[in-house]
Amino acid sequence: MIVKTSEEVQNQIIHLIKDFIKKDVNPIATIYEKDNIYPHELIPTMQELGLFGITIPEKYGGMGLDFTTFAKIFEEISKGWMSLSGIIGTHHILSHIISTYGTDEQKNRVLPKMATGEIRGGLALTESEAGSDSQNITTTAIKDGEEYIINGRKMYITNGEHGNAFALVAKTDTDISPRHKGISCFIFEKPSDGFKVGQHLDKLGYRGLDTCELVFDNCRIPADSLIGGVEGKGFGQVMNGLETGRINVAARAVGVAQAALDSALSYSQRRETFGKPIAQHQAIQLKLADMATKVHAARLMVYDAADKKDSGLRNDLEASMAKLFASEICGEVTMEAMRVHGGAGYIKDLPIERYYRDAPLMIIGEGTNEIMKLIIARRLLEKNKLQE
Ligand SMILES: Cc1cc2nc3c(=O)[nH]c(=O)nc-3n(C[C@H](O)[C@H](O)[C@H](O)COP(=O)(O)OP(=O)(O)OC[C@H]3O[C@@H](n4cnc5c(N)ncnc54)[C@H](O)[C@@H]3O)c2cc1C
Repeated sequence: MIVKTSEEVQNQIIHLIKDFIKKDVNPIATIYEKDNIYPHELIPTMQELGLFGITIPEKYGGMGLDFTTFAKIFEEISKGWMSLSGIIGTHHILSHIISTYGTDEQKNRVLPKMATGEIRGGLALTESEAGSDSQNITTTAIKDGEEYIINGRKMYITNGEHGNAFALVAKTDTDISPRHKGISCFIFEKPSDGFKVGQHLDKLGYRGLDTCELVFDNCRIPADSLIGGVEGKGFGQVMNGLETGRINVAARAVGVAQAALDSALSYSQRRETFGKPIAQHQAIQLKLADMATKVHAARLMVYDAADKKDSGLRNDLEASMAKLFASEICGEVTMEAMRVHGGAGYIKDLPIERYYRDAPLMIIGEGTNEIMKLIIARRLLEKNKLQE
C-alpha cells in the first residue's frame, strides 16, 4: 500500500514539470531528436526536480510519490519529448525492484544515489534470442566464491551508454525446470572488468536516447549484487518491475497522443480550405472528436492501473490493458493528427511526424501488445474459472 500523494503536491509537481518542458525541452526536442543528440544539459534540472527519485521512498532520499503522480509526470514529459522519459523509465524499474526485493544493505547503498540521479539505472533483460520469450535468456551468472561470473549479451538496452547501474537478469541455473526458477536478478554497476557497451542501435523514433548492446565476457561482480540475496527469484522480481514499466509506457502513450491532438486542434483552426478553417469541415470535426475520446479513455485506464498499484493490489490485468489500449490509440491518434495537418504533418519542421515515429515504441516496448493480450486473457480466464 502506497501513501497517496495529496492533490496539492501533485499539482505543484506537474506545474514544475510543465514549466521545465516549456522552457528547456520544447526548444530543443525536434533538433536533438533529428540529429540523435543526447540531452546531457537537461540532466541537472531533472535531478533538481527530483525526477530520478519519483517513487523511491523518502527515507532513501526519494520523493515517495504514488503511481498516479508517477503516471502524470511521464505523461507531461512525453508531451514535450518522449525520449526524455526514457532516461527515467527503466531507472524506475531498477529502483522499484530494489525497493521491493532488495536487502537492507542494497537499499541503503543504491537507492539514495538513484534518488539523486548520481546512479542512473536501466533494465538489462532482453537478448537477441529472448525478447517476448524472456525465459530463453542465455546470459549466465556462475557463483565463484564471493563473486558471480557473468557471460552473455544483452540487446536493446535503454540507457546502455549513459546509465551506470542495471537490473541484470541472468541464469544461475540453466538446467532447472520450469526455466524461470533458474533466473536471478543482479544490480550490475559500471565500470567493471569484462564488461563493455557494444553496438549503439539506430532507431525509427525514441532518438537522442542511447539504446545499446551490453557485452559481458567473464565479468566478475560481487556476490552481494544478487537482489534479495536468494537465487532463482529474478523472474518474478523483473515481472513486478515491468508492471510499473507498463504504467509508465502507457502514460507516455497518453502524453504523445495528447500532444498530437493538441497540435491538430490548433492547426485545424488556423488552416483554411474552401474559404473556412478546416476545423469547420465536419470530416475534420469527426477526427477531432474520435481522437479526444480515445485519449480521454486511455488516460482514465492509465490512472486506474496506477491507482490499483498504489492500493497494493495485483494490477497486471489493469496495467496490461492500459498499456495495450493507450499505445494502440497513440498509434491511431498520431496518424490522424498527421492527416489533419495534410502535407505539413509529413515534414520535419513540425513535431507531428516525430509523434508518429515515436508511437510504435509504446506498442513494442515493455512487452509487445500481443503479449499484453496473452496476459489479459490468462488473467481473465483465471478470474473466471468455471466452478465444477
Ligand atoms: C527502442 C527499444 C528500447 C528497448 N529497451 C529495452 C530495455 O531497456 N531493456 C530491455 O531489457 N529490453 C528493451 N527493449 C526490448 C523490448 O522489450 C523487446 O524488443 C520486446 O519485448 C519484444 O521482443 P523481441 O524484440 O525479441 O520480439 P519477439 O519476441 O521476437 O517478437 C516478434 C513478434 O512476435 C510476437 N510474439 C512473440 N511471441 C508471441 C506469442 N507467444 N504469441 C503471439 N505473438 C508473439 C511479438 O508480439 C512480435 O510481434 C527495447 C526495445 C526497443 C525497440
